[in-house]
Amino acid sequence: SKYSRDDIIRIVEEEDVEFIRLQFTDIFGMLKNVAVTAGQLAKALDNRCMFDGSAIEGFVRIDESDMYLHPDLNTFEIFPWRPQQGRVARLICDVYNPDGTPFKGDPRYVLKRAVKRAADMGYVFQVGPECEFFLFHADEEGCPTTETHERAGYFDVSPIDLGENVRRDIVLTLEEMGFEVEASHHEIAPGQHEIDLQYTDALKAADHIMTFKMAAKTIAKRHGLHATFMPKPKEGVNGSGMHINMSLCDALGKNLFADEKDPLGLSGLAYRFMAGILAHMKEMTILTNPIVNSYKRLIPGYDAPIYIAWSSTSNRSSLIRIPSPRGQSTRIELRCPDSAMNPYLALAACLQAGLDGIEKNLTLPPCVEGNLFGMEPEELKNRGVERIPETLGDAMEAYAGNLFIKDVLGEHIYVKYLEAKEQEWRDFRSQVTNWEIGQYLYKY
Ligand code: GLN
Ligand code: MG
Ligand code: MG
Ligand code: MG
Repeated sequence: SKYSRDDIIRIVEEEDVEFIRLQFTDIFGMLKNVAVTAGQLAKALDNRCMFDGSAIEGFVRIDESDMYLHPDLNTFEIFPWRPQQGRVARLICDVYNPDGTPFKGDPRYVLKRAVKRAADMGYVFQVGPECEFFLFHADEEGCPTTETHERAGYFDVSPIDLGENVRRDIVLTLEEMGFEVEASHHEIAPGQHEIDLQYTDALKAADHIMTFKMAAKTIAKRHGLHATFMPKPKEGVNGSGMHINMSLCDALGKNLFADEKDPLGLSGLAYRFMAGILAHMKEMTILTNPIVNSYKRLIPGYDAPIYIAWSSTSNRSSLIRIPSPRGQSTRIELRCPDSAMNPYLALAACLQAGLDGIEKNLTLPPCVEGNLFGMEPEELKNRGVERIPETLGDAMEAYAGNLFIKDVLGEHIYVKYLEAKEQEWRDFRSQVTNWEIGQYLYKY
């Protein structure tokens, strides 16, 4: 462990930290927190901080609402963007029942279970996320718009790239918080950016994604901009994905996806892991792409995947591609996830799917090279290539009743998630959109 209980108490005192935020994530990927004063720190570190679970969507019923927060000492961090005096720190917490058992509705618990299964098989799941987002202007009232004044594109530099200062500020802040940022650049659409986080073990990666989004929003706001991770905020331009680079290593950190003797440089383990992901992709799409808007991104022509296939080259139209680095950097890149996902649940599903592929010795379908978007439906059918669910409704159908998913999430989250998504899909389907009014009001 990075910090002991005493370390944290000492640092809080030395650094003049006044508030400690106890953070956790709800089922729908929303970061929640309870702030305690430095005076309450000892109590918090003794796992005696309580909150009302019934106030959190998808958590518990009214009559069983006391939940306890158990801080993960490794996640202690002082926010660099607060004033020097009366500083604010945070601890990411696990959620527990009053009887001291882990709460089954805690997404971090779901990921921990998956990580444990991997550990029992001798593997550590390594994850490197590529986070894409837009920086939009806020209006006079501070409300976000979808406007940007810049016209820069992929890898452009300032002065065309007006967001560069903000992006730099985000990266520097993250580094101050101990993150390793692998790369950052302007993305394809005007106002769109990408920050790639250094790969790390899955639990830390999920914690990092949550912290990253919060930090990016906070810093952007300081520059009068709004950072949005909405998957497709604008029609006609690329949406924002969160590609996930994945590999397995052993307990000593040796990459187990690499094999020099293989023509593609990949191990049998890597192939079986990929086979597991492809086999379970449909039922877990609702976790990697969780909202109505996610499916507006997954259409042809915007560098987002729509078919369940893998490619051995840098083909960006496929669901899984193999980035060129090999050896210790060997990995697969899953390209469908977006930042609306709950990273704990989505990573748990990816890992469990991959482990399933390994355990059941699944065979990987042949790779599909070339631009999938250019292929006729007939050809795709002959090759046995299926589509990623086209809507939230389709994704829900693949999820509902699926035994693999129930096993990954546990009954509690499985049910709550389904209920909420059913409601979301019903709501959406009852909307009459501006597009429909524009198309039909006059004509019919
Ligand atoms: N924005 C694209 C997506 O939706 C990815 C573009 C890229 O990284 N080349 O996934
Ligand atoms: Mg990238
Ligand atoms: Mg990108
Ligand atoms: Mg990528």
